[in-house]
Amino acid sequence: MANPSILILAGDGIGPEVMSEVRKIIDWFAAKRQIKFNVSEDLVGGAAYDVHGVPLADETMAKAMSVDAVLLGAVGGPKYDKLDFAVKPERGLLRLRKEMDLFSNLRPAQCFGALADFSSLKKDIVAGLDIMIVRELTGGIYFGEPRGIFPDNDGGRVGINTQRYTTEEIRRVARSAFELARRRGNKVCSMEKANVMESGILWREEVTWVHENEYADVELSHMYADAGAMQLVRWPKQFDVIVTDNLFGDILSDTAAMLTGSLGMLPSASLGAPGKNGRPKALYEPVHGSAPDIAGTGKANPIACILSFAMALRYSFDLGDEATRVEQAVEKVLADGLRTADLMGPDGGKPVSTSEMGNAIRQALDASV
Ligand code: NAD
Repeated sequence: MANPSILILAGDGIGPEVMSEVRKIIDWFAAKRQIKFNVSEDLVGGAAYDVHGVPLADETMAKAMSVDAVLLGAVGGPKYDKLDFAVKPERGLLRLRKEMDLFSNLRPAQCFGALADFSSLKKDIVAGLDIMIVRELTGGIYFGEPRGIFPDNDGGRVGINTQRYTTEEIRRVARSAFELARRRGNKVCSMEKANVMESGILWREEVTWVHENEYADVELSHMYADAGAMQLVRWPKQFDVIVTDNLFGDILSDTAAMLTGSLGMLPSASLGAPGKNGRPKALYEPVHGSAPDIAGTGKANPIACILSFAMALRYSFDLGDEATRVEQAVEKVLADGLRTADLMGPDGGKPVSTSEMGNAIRQALDASV
């Protein structure tokens, strides 16, 4: 693939700080692996509002539609809290997700050995954990109609949200999960509430259809989402890929995130339908926000953003080995005891700043070739 293109939207707060460290890794690939990315940068969130009066300019949206992958830092901050809902920084991110039709949200929960003590669970339950939650992101109860708060017949009010899924919405996210499983442990567990919800029955039937007709080589199991939540904290290593709807995925992915410790360690990807080039539209971003409480202090952990770039290497650019190289470099610096402030835990460690962490990861990459 010749010079794949990346649009960087660093955003607000610690977004630009962590993204600077990702730039070091991108530059390393050009210098040491002859893998050159066509990188452009633009504004999103409050930073875009300050210049354009909107949290995502139309030209930026057009660029996002044309590149191979978008890499986003974080948006938001107290300065923008009182803005109208329509121009709040988060609306920029929501516009990207909507117009790129990013229906498949990938949230890995990976526990690096050196950080196993950070989890609220026992070390042997989480050490070496590597699971992937695939959450349907554009349908379900957060979007279904009718919705709203209405007067009730008895003088009270009624709040309504509608869980609604179509065959195609379920099949496309199921395919995304099966594809991922083939690159990993080849197992998918689908979670819903087919015992009490018709949409859950349809979910189970459609996932089974995709399995039988297109991915019979992958192992498929089904679990009720409440039982799945229990299993996630009881014995998470039984899972490889979990696929679930928008609401359950919201909850289960946050539960899984806590298995691994700090927010500063969590990457994510949101994928859409394959474009003309055969690759899915894709947005990669750390799970954390703009962390205004530590912005500008050099305390931000850049690893979530660096691991998000590693996901781009794997899922947008078919560079799985290079993604593993980045993940191993992260593992190495953590094993060496380097710790940003959020990782200063029970085992102490050597305190480092945002840029020192980025430099150390780049050095570990140097040592890998
Ligand atoms: P947050 O994720 O920004 O911060 C929560 C806590 O985690 C803070 O104490 C912060 O210092 C810490 N933290 C977060 N990322 C860290 C990192 N990389 N390294 C070290 N510590 C880190 O969530 P919040 O405080 O609820 O929200 C702050 C702002 O971010 C709000 O405006 C919110 O709307 C926005 N937000 C944006 C996104 C996004 O851009 N995707 C996601 C969540 C929140």
